[in-house]
Amino acid sequence: TKRIAVLTSGGDAPGMNACIRAIVVASEGAGHTVIGFEHGFHGLLAPNWRKLDSKKVHNIIQRGGTILRSARCEEFKQDSAAKNAAKHLSELAIDAILILGGDGSFRGAKHLSKFWDGQVIGLPATIDNDIYGTDTTIGYYTAIQTAMDSIDKVRDTADAFERIFLVEVMGRHAGFLGAKAAISGAANYAILPELFTDPDETLNDIHQQLSIHRKRYGHESFIIVLTENLWPEGINTLAEKLENLTGGEVRPVILGHVQRGGSPVSQDRILATTLGVEAVRCVEQGKHCIMVGQQNLEPAEVPLEQTWETKKVFSDSLTRTMKTMLNERHSWDLTK
Ligand code: ATP
Repeated sequence: TKRIAVLTSGGDAPGMNACIRAIVVASEGAGHTVIGFEHGFHGLLAPNWRKLDSKKVHNIIQRGGTILRSARCEEFKQDSAAKNAAKHLSELAIDAILILGGDGSFRGAKHLSKFWDGQVIGLPATIDNDIYGTDTTIGYYTAIQTAMDSIDKVRDTADAFERIFLVEVMGRHAGFLGAKAAISGAANYAILPELFTDPDETLNDIHQQLSIHRKRYGHESFIIVLTENLWPEGINTLAEKLENLTGGEVRPVILGHVQRGGSPVSQDRILATTLGVEAVRCVEQGKHCIMVGQQNLEPAEVPLEQTWETKKVFSDSLTRTMKTMLNERHSWDLTK
């Protein structure tokens, strides 16, 4: 049997608890011991840990956030910190550590592996879905649901006041969340890194799109989804520019941290549980420095570095759907 450590790091994501639960249940069933480190990599440095068993992870599958708490830990980038963490892991006789988080956390995992010869395994948990080697990440589906619900609500008030609404979603530097929120919320336009060319062209596109929309539907709501960190001077500048261009009122709405919260939807619970079980299996098989993800609904093992060295891009069908349903509708010939 093995001694397995687990920690959650970076931005929290709905479904992290479901994954911790699966790791504990799968481990306990096989006779392994599980230790949870608190507050991300800080917990390895303090060290701050507690033993986990199935009683401690009972009734948490539906809870957002993470019972182990998460954190960003700048200090962990230093060799001395990773060496310190390695020392604590060795003192506690840990065989393997499972790290739940995004690409930053995986870099941290790799960094740790340079100083510690136990097994290091990553599990993709971030609402951004910006990790190569897995179709989706734990938390992504719930965040799409939250953003979609918000767009529905914004549309109700937008319709009442005939306004243009700009809805900013998270994503760091990737447009996956924005794209899926825009498709499911039937937004009218999306400004995402994967489809973005330059600000002037985008403004011109939106203007044309808006005139077609107004001709067809009258003065109804017009909803634009924008990924954070993309518009050169931020969402308020974009709103002002659009007001000048269209002569109408433009309301910016920043969804912000609500997208990280909430009870995980079924897909996130199932993904988290499946990956947790697979990760314990990988520990038993002696795997090292990999991420356990999912490709075409089957578990997939990917070398840790590849998850950030290779950029995850939009599939052709996602690009086509975005263009057909949203961004290129202004090219329609409505006279026919
Ligand atoms: P999300 O994108 O969902 O917020 P993330 O895991 O990418 O999740 P980051 O803040 O980028 O979040 O990284 C989390 C933590 O991982 C950092 O605070 C730091 O402790 C560790 N980390 C990131 N990069 C490195 C690195 N190059 N070396 C060591 N540790 C790192």
